[in-house]
Amino acid sequence: MSKKVYVQVYGCQMSERDGESFGAMAESQGYLRTASREEADLVVVTTCCVRESAENRIIGNIGQLRRWKAQRPGRMLVVAGCLVQQAGALERLRRRAPHVDIWMGAFDQAKFPDLLREAEGGAIVCAVSDQAGPPVEAAPLAEAGKLSACVNIMYGCDNFCSYCVVPLVRGRERSRPPRDVLDEVRRLAESGTREIVLLGQNVNSYGRSENQPEDFAWLLRAVAREPGLWRVRFTTSHPKDLTDAVIAAVAEEAVICPHFHMPLQAGSDRVLKAMNRGYTTEYYLERVRAIRRAVPEARISTDLIAGFPGETEEDFSETLRLMREIHFSQAFTFMYSRRSGTAAADLPGQLPREERLERLKRMMALQAEMSLAWRRAMVGSCQEVLVVGPSKRDPAMLSGQAAGGEAVVFAGREADVGTLAPVVIREANSWTLFGVIDYEKREDV
Ligand code: SAH
Ligand code: SF4
Repeated sequence: MSKKVYVQVYGCQMSERDGESFGAMAESQGYLRTASREEADLVVVTTCCVRESAENRIIGNIGQLRRWKAQRPGRMLVVAGCLVQQAGALERLRRRAPHVDIWMGAFDQAKFPDLLREAEGGAIVCAVSDQAGPPVEAAPLAEAGKLSACVNIMYGCDNFCSYCVVPLVRGRERSRPPRDVLDEVRRLAESGTREIVLLGQNVNSYGRSENQPEDFAWLLRAVAREPGLWRVRFTTSHPKDLTDAVIAAVAEEAVICPHFHMPLQAGSDRVLKAMNRGYTTEYYLERVRAIRRAVPEARISTDLIAGFPGETEEDFSETLRLMREIHFSQAFTFMYSRRSGTAAADLPGQLPREERLERLKRMMALQAEMSLAWRRAMVGSCQEVLVVGPSKRDPAMLSGQAAGGEAVVFAGREADVGTLAPVVIREANSWTLFGVIDYEKREDV
């Protein structure tokens, strides 16, 4: 009987994409995929260290896997990615989790099949390189045949926002050659993928580190023109590098979804400066206006941090004010987390947890209100939805995504899975739209 692999992903879409590569590489080594950890012989955990809360969850889970491992001889546990890559983390992690067979950093993915063979011989294997290079790019392509697939267009980050550990664990920004990206997109489209999500920490600076003539606007249009695709999305848009040419591409290419995920982080210029974000609130607002002028139906979502060091109540209330003014369709809100090695970790004015948490709660409450208003305004409209599969909460219903990235749960038939369906929206809460497929309109889609 074949051995089985279970991949458990923590963190951002990059980490998710890494998880796909690990799954594909394990398959190439003869493993079958399983969705159940209990059935697995091999568990691969891809990790995140962007905030302490993620880190604690992952460490707790790795701890639980000690029992999983002891339950059957021959089981193997692999821990990979950002958490392992952090300076000095490996020693600490190894002491806490001696049952892990393979530790891998963020730049060692492509060595996985070799490391697996080595560990199968009984050794504990550690591979944590501190240099980014071709190995990451050499990792297998995104999984074929998926309805929606993520494609990396760049790795690493050069922005050094003062709170952020990403540049420290993922290295300098490197863009993939346009040919590689387009080849991967074409292969995915040929295998049945209909939605492509282009991924990068700052997609708007695509090609800059390589001095390529092809910038992100160029790439976006080129991907949009690949045959077979219904939708193209992209994330993340750093506001400082969002050009009019990118906005024009979204406005003009019908397959590009009218959705900009553009993290604001804070609404006070003083805090933005301390964060080293490279823009002012006025600049951000100007970008919002440019988007709304060119793409009136655009949804703008964001990331926000509550309780950055030195943030006063007045600074924070400016963030709330800006949230009201812009009216984001969605916001991922985070409590500031002090990450060692980052510039902000050494700033004076670190706020106590209660204060950060209290601000986070106010921010979340306001966004829930804003998100609800957005979604309520969509009640009665017909939205084109990419039908992903049965809803996890209620398997009698289907679930999918509207063009603006909104989650939609709706009544329909099994045969609708894998299609773009017209869904009439009947109800909404802050996070989800609820509706039913309009079968009279179905023919036109
Ligand atoms: N490259 C993206 C963000 C990647 S990290 C960008 O710049 O837009 C995802 C989000 O995590 C960030 O936007 C930020 O809001 C949050 N984040 C990153 N580091 C954090 C920290 N130390 N504490 C709290 N939130 C953090
Ligand atoms: Fe982190 Fe800033 Fe880079 Fe985003 S742009 S990954 S927040 S350093």
